[in-house]
Amino acid sequence: KNVADKIAAGEVVDRPLSIVKELVENAIDAGATNITVEIRNGGKTYIRVTDNGCGIGENEVELAFLRHATSKITTDEDLNSILTLGFRGEALSSIAAVSRVELITKTVDAKTGVSLKIHGGEVFEKSATGCPDGTTIIVSDLFYNTPARLKFMKTDATESTLIIDFISKIALAYAAIKIRLINNGTILFSTNGKGDKYSNIITVYSKSFSEGLIHISSESESMSLEGYISRPDFSKTNRKQQIFFVNGRSISNRIMDLAVQEGYTERLFEGRYPIAYLFFRIKPELVDVNIHPNKKEVRFNQDMEVKNFIAQSIKRGLLSQQA
Ligand code: ADP
Ligand code: MG
Repeated sequence: KNVADKIAAGEVVDRPLSIVKELVENAIDAGATNITVEIRNGGKTYIRVTDNGCGIGENEVELAFLRHATSKITTDEDLNSILTLGFRGEALSSIAAVSRVELITKTVDAKTGVSLKIHGGEVFEKSATGCPDGTTIIVSDLFYNTPARLKFMKTDATESTLIIDFISKIALAYAAIKIRLINNGTILFSTNGKGDKYSNIITVYSKSFSEGLIHISSESESMSLEGYISRPDFSKTNRKQQIFFVNGRSISNRIMDLAVQEGYTERLFEGRYPIAYLFFRIKPELVDVNIHPNKKEVRFNQDMEVKNFIAQSIKRGLLSQQA
């Protein structure tokens, strides 16, 4: 495949996680209600994403792998809601340039599905195949044709941790989609797609703290918060179980870190951090989303208001628990 494609690929695909991200975003965009993600060896040798979304028409399968080919209309509003933004129409072509890809897809209207194999960006085989409605993409042997990049991947454990972390957050953010994650042949979790955040938190993040989570919920004119926080005695030594979503996106944000600690004022020992799964919504014009797809930080226009709102709502939650 040509050099330009390989360079472009480097922007989108730098490790297994970036592939998983793009494929899962595509599945969500395709309207899937059921998504399975399977990885082996940290995604280095094998990534499979299967969805029951709209599928790709037989005549469009090659097109989907062309650079800048997108079937999606972009509006300003989308810019805030889609993770993959900035790489419009580049994901599949980039992935295909640096791996072996098999696409198996079928639209509802089609009698049979189609399978397309692409190795290092070149079509290798195309054939008709029986398959359910929706799309499966299998990405094998990542970076097999770009040895320099191959070397930059970390251990299987590191790469898989990143992917598991990402899919876990996707499962919470998209509670209405059934999401199943398989790692080296073991099902790590499988959500029920019923939209219940609490049940997903338990399913995804282990049963160990199924008791002890307090539901909080509050709303103002410009913001709303829903979430689950731990009783003060369930605190941890780090923030790993503080997971924040702003307008449906998993992000990290210093103000939210501070708000959580403030909400627990005098209730925690030094160096302890509560468990907190917070789903925060704010008017889009009050938040600045860094539009680089790999950055997960947001800035609020009115830090103080956001911090107070969240801290107060946590305080109320903790008080209600005592009553
Ligand atoms: P983008 O998502 O920015 O449009 P991609 O390279 O990720 O670009 O995908 C190219 C096109 O392939 C999409 O616009 C879409 O039409 C099609 N496509 C990719 N994945 C799926 C999927 N899982 N289901 C249906 N169509 C898909
Ligand atoms: Mg995409």
